[in-house]
Amino acid sequence: HAKKHGRNRYYWFEHQMEHELRFRSQLEAGIRRGLHEDEFEPYYEQQIDVATGELVGFEMLARWNSPQLGIVNPDVFIPIAEELGVIGELSEQLIRKALDHAKEWDEDLTLSVNISPVQLRDPWFAQRLLKLMVEANFPANRLDVEITETCLHENIGLVRSLVSSLKNQGVTVSLDDFGTGYSSLAQLRSLPFDRIKIDRSFVSNLPEDQEGMKIVEAITSLGDGFGLPITAEGIENEQVLAKLRGLGNFKGQGYLYGRPEPADLIRTRLRKLDRLRKENPTFKTNVV
Ligand code: C2E
Ligand code: MG
Ligand code: MG
Ligand code: MG
Repeated sequence: HAKKHGRNRYYWFEHQMEHELRFRSQLEAGIRRGLHEDEFEPYYEQQIDVATGELVGFEMLARWNSPQLGIVNPDVFIPIAEELGVIGELSEQLIRKALDHAKEWDEDLTLSVNISPVQLRDPWFAQRLLKLMVEANFPANRLDVEITETCLHENIGLVRSLVSSLKNQGVTVSLDDFGTGYSSLAQLRSLPFDRIKIDRSFVSNLPEDQEGMKIVEAITSLGDGFGLPITAEGIENEQVLAKLRGLGNFKGQGYLYGRPEPADLIRTRLRKLDRLRKENPTFKTNVV
C-alpha cells in the first residue's frame, strides 16, 4: 500500500512540475510575442513633496497588457525578460513611450525610470538612453534613473562609470529600495547618487513598526549627513505621512496619493490640476 502511495505521489509531482514548466514556457513565449506586438505599457505613480503636498513628478512602472492574462505586474515578467536577454529591448519600448507621455506634462515635472542590473552591464546603456531622449526631444534634466541597491553587488567600477555618464548627460540618478541591499556607507559615499529612496517595507507600517521607524530615522540622518535628499515609498495612509513630516523633508509616493495609472488617466489628472490652479493661484496640493 505504501509503495502504491509513493508512486502516486511521484506521479503527482511529475504532473505538477510539467504543469509549471508549461506555464513558464507559455510566459516566455507570451513575453516575446508581447514585445513584438507592443503590449508593454508604462503606468505612472505620483511623486509628491511631502511638506507641501505639491506634485513633483512620476515614476514609470511597467505593466504587461497581455491578451491572455490581463494586466501583469513587473515582478512576474521583468525577471523572465532578464533571463531571455530581452530586458534592454523591453525597457527601450517602455521608455520611448514614457518620454512621449512625459513631454506633454508640465515642464517642471520629472520622470523616473527603473533600470535592471542586467542593463547596467551594457556598456552602451547611457548612449542608448541619450539617443531616446534626443529622439523624443526630452530634456535630460527632467529624467531620473532609479538603480536598485542590489546593483552595488555587481562590478562597482561598472556602476560608477555608468552613473557618471548619466550625470554628464544631465540625468539624475537615484538609489532605489535603499535599506534592503546591504550596501556599505563607503559605496554610498563613493557613488555620486542624487537621491536615495527608502524601501517601502520600512515605511508602510509606521509608526507602529518600531524597527521600521529606527531604520527610517537612521536613513534620514544618513541622507542629511551626505547631503542626499530622500524619497519615501509606500506611504499608504495619513499616519505614515504625519510621521514622515515630523522627521524632515521628503519626497514621497504611495497609495495615499494614488495607485500607478496609465497615461490617459494621468493626463486627465493633470488637466484637472491645471484648472484648479487657474481658479486659485495659491493651490498646491496634489489631491485631485
Ligand atoms: P520599485 O521601483 O521599488 O517600485 C515601487 C513598487 O511599489 C511598485 O510596484 C509600486 O506599485 C509599489 N507601491 C507604490 N506605492 C505603494 C504603496 O503605498 N503600497 C504598496 N503596497 N505598494 C506600493 P510594481 O509596479 O509592481 O513594481 C515592482 C518593481 O518592479 C519596482 O519596484 C521595480 O523594481 C520593478 N520595475 C517596475 N517597472 C520597471 C521597468 O520598467 N524596468 C525594470 N527594470 N524594473 C521595473
Ligand atoms: Mg523604483
Ligand atoms: Mg523602490
Ligand atoms: Mg521596491
